[in-house]
Amino acid sequence: MARVRGARCRLCRREGIKLYLKGIRCGGDKCAIERRNSVPGQHKMRKKISDYGVQMREKQKMKKIYGMLEKQFRIFFQRALQFPGITGEVLIQLLERRLDNVVLKMLIVPSRSEARQFIRHGFIKINKRKVDIPSYLVKEGDVISVVEKESVKKRIADNLEMLKDRETPEWISLDRKTQVATITRLPTKADAALPIEENLIVELYSK
Ligand code: SF4
Repeated sequence: MARVRGARCRLCRREGIKLYLKGIRCGGDKCAIERRNSVPGQHKMRKKISDYGVQMREKQKMKKIYGMLEKQFRIFFQRALQFPGITGEVLIQLLERRLDNVVLKMLIVPSRSEARQFIRHGFIKINKRKVDIPSYLVKEGDVISVVEKESVKKRIADNLEMLKDRETPEWISLDRKTQVATITRLPTKADAALPIEENLIVELYSK
């Protein structure tokens, strides 16, 4: 799968908010947003933008948070349209259900890029079967575990220790000792708590 490249802190500075793209560093005082929240580049003024511009920025924020390129993101939007409910909220739910997002929120890796690496390397199992597709959508009742490989287990134990002050979301029940998580229910918009007005993204794609 194609990846979002480039300096990740720069992406946050572009949006003016923390997008949490660098794992553990994002929670510390080395975060570029904490140190200087300014637009990158030579023309540093944040200009007044049109309604279209605001919609675009909301879309860009969501794409960056989930580390997706336009084509992948649009596919998810098209999928969201096929479900009943409020499209923007369905979109968030689908993005939250992605396996890379779940692995990140299990706190067994510090960043989304590492979550994808873990999955692609075949370290993650769902209901005891290996799944190496980061965009796989988990379901209620799914049990997520890791392969029985000492080096992987050790790495995860270290990560869990490093991230011990963070909590998993309510819809993921994690047993830190066995490194096994269960999806207790599907996530909601409130669970995701994104700094985004998703209805603006729906308006943008509806034009
Ligand atoms: Fe964004 Fe701060 Fe994390 Fe850099 S450290 S990616 S600026 S949240």
